[in-house]
Amino acid sequence: MSLKVLKFGGSSLADAEHFRSVAEIVKSDPARRYVVASAPGKRMSGDSKVTDLLYKCYALACDDEDITEVFDEIKARYNSIIEELGIELDLTEAYEKIRFSMLHNSGRDYVASRGEYLNAMILAKYLGFDFIDAKKVVFFNEDGTFNAERTNDVMRDALSTREYAVIPGFYGSMPNGTIKTFSRGGSDITGSIVARAASATLYENWTDVSGFLMADPRIIDNPKPIKTITYKELRELSYMGATVLHEDAIFPVRYSKIPINIRNTNSPDDKGTFIVPETDEISDYIITGIAGKTGFSNITIEKAMMNSELGLGRKVLQVLEENNVSFEHFPSGIDTMTVVVSTKALQDKRADVLAGICKNINPDNVFVEENLALVAIVGRGMVKAKGTAARIFVALAEAGVNIRMIDQGSSELNIIVGVDANDYVTALNAIYKEFVK
Ligand code: ASP
Repeated sequence: MSLKVLKFGGSSLADAEHFRSVAEIVKSDPARRYVVASAPGKRMSGDSKVTDLLYKCYALACDDEDITEVFDEIKARYNSIIEELGIELDLTEAYEKIRFSMLHNSGRDYVASRGEYLNAMILAKYLGFDFIDAKKVVFFNEDGTFNAERTNDVMRDALSTREYAVIPGFYGSMPNGTIKTFSRGGSDITGSIVARAASATLYENWTDVSGFLMADPRIIDNPKPIKTITYKELRELSYMGATVLHEDAIFPVRYSKIPINIRNTNSPDDKGTFIVPETDEISDYIITGIAGKTGFSNITIEKAMMNSELGLGRKVLQVLEENNVSFEHFPSGIDTMTVVVSTKALQDKRADVLAGICKNINPDNVFVEENLALVAIVGRGMVKAKGTAARIFVALAEAGVNIRMIDQGSSELNIIVGVDANDYVTALNAIYKEFVK
């Protein structure tokens, strides 16, 4: 039997008009039983997200400054939704409690979480669904990590006694009962947690775009939408900056192999993107998507007979670890190795890292080159497809782009190329054109 969990993002619940669209979507299918709500997002460009206003209030309260103006703005957001929808709900007491807590050191996470709490209460009332406070069903461990198993058990029990319910996203509780939030955008994770606990057949994640696009629309003109993508492909693309869904939202549903469908509240007839555990479906193109980022540096190390020296890679990486710099890639030659790191992370540690490498392995030469951009070409269709790399390299060569680094994991799910940051846009366009247009 079909059972759907829906999560609506902030832009889908920003005002009364959006609440109406949400209700229409939810009520159009009786299988849509559990709804996770974000806090009201921006209504137009230049507007504020309620979560940001709450953080602002918290900061003001910490500095002993007056919170009235910002707090009134928050109340006005909720009051206008309630009034325009014509529902009977008086939040005066809840506002007072929140205001009091803000002024009495209730904690930053508690304050931020109230955006989802209030919005979910309003939505539950409007839909006529039960309200389940996330603090009673989402749990963190003492060290702040998410307690997946306890959450799953308690959430499953709570859902089993309610046919239809709304749950606020973004937060849960610590073992001592205080509120803790996930990182920003964390309502996506709550949606995934609810989907797992409900053994949902589908997790619908409703936002303001019709799913994932094959490339960044700020760089590629009108990129094609992605119909189906696997969890693994999505991980590769979102690691490189393709955002729509919180990175950690995949893990709970992945566990139970529940597909996620990214949908657009403003265009509900669009089918959106399906994120699935695995698929035999052949995509229209060999590649599923392209993503990339600028802001990387190469640390290149040269040493004669390097390949026969045991433990050399470990010694290099140890220097990075000691300096708290994480590495992105580690391509190597016979007597050279290169470590790709974020330029920002290396910034203040450059001298220490180079000195450490010199001390640890006594290289013939070590130098840093900045201005590197990484481009990831991702696609399950590339596995075993012959000639994909050749097509990428020819396309880049024909566009006059020099390749500074190549990395292909044995999963064959992606090929990553490093190019000069000045060539980044040209490189993305050349690859997109080769495979899609
Ligand atoms: N409201 C929170 C944020 O703005 C969480 C979310 O919307 O998912 O990050």
